[in-house]
Amino acid sequence: MTTLEIRDLHVTVEVEGGAKEILRGVDLTVSSGETHAIMGPNGSGKSTLAYSVAGHPRYKVTEGSVTLDGEDVLAMKVDERARAGLFLAMQYPVEVPGVTVSNFLRTAKTAVDGEAPKLRTWVKDMKGAMEKLRIDPAFAERNVNEGFSGGEKKRHEILQMELLKPSIAILDETDSGLDVDALKVVSEGVNRVKASGDVGVLLITHYTRILRYIEPDFVHVFIDGRIVEEGGKELADRLEDEGYDRYLTVAQG
Ligand code: ADP
Ligand code: MG
Repeated sequence: MTTLEIRDLHVTVEVEGGAKEILRGVDLTVSSGETHAIMGPNGSGKSTLAYSVAGHPRYKVTEGSVTLDGEDVLAMKVDERARAGLFLAMQYPVEVPGVTVSNFLRTAKTAVDGEAPKLRTWVKDMKGAMEKLRIDPAFAERNVNEGFSGGEKKRHEILQMELLKPSIAILDETDSGLDVDALKVVSEGVNRVKASGDVGVLLITHYTRILRYIEPDFVHVFIDGRIVEEGGKELADRLEDEGYDRYLTVAQG
């Protein structure tokens, strides 16, 4: 079992006129086999949490810790985080000019495993995973994220996740920009990865929609840079009915 532990995490970004604190003490534990949903309004700092765990240079940790089975994640280089079993799907993935999906995936797999995958099984695995996600084979020869539609970007993320087999996956707004059919395909992919291994999933989302297809074990409500309430799946149902207004009033008052 693998456990990601976030303790009292404070994170700032440099803005005009100084540093602004975005995360104000986040505590969260995600173990393999569990599915957690972080839900909160826009601007509450959800993506900042994902970027901080990923090691994005713009986000400065001023207090607290992030560990994976006791190992200091914040001291790891970005590729070391991947090798340790962390997978991060970003809300706004970057283009990688001149690198095809096929090459990108093979390089990532080699980096994570510490050795190149055997060509024959690899091609078979990749084709199989693409088929299950209903991705056109020609997609493998396109450049990463170049001209990808919202749906293609998200499918590509889940394809990576299926092939890299992380122990902890953080998916930031994987549901955004998807129509219902694409949402189902993507959700099925996540559920397949969950069923096939012991992955811990942290789903970050503004909307409850994706939680109809991927059932969370734990729901955390994120407001203004910290978790303000936690519960089970029923908390997501309540948020669907009531929205975030109740929390926002409290936060401002
Ligand atoms: P969410 O993902 O919940 O919508 P974000 O983490 O993207 O929230 O943003 C939280 C707050 O931090 C917002 O006020 C946003 O403007 C600010 N912020 C996030 N990243 C940066 C950045 N790189 N530079 C300046 N401000 C940022
Ligand atoms: Mg976000």
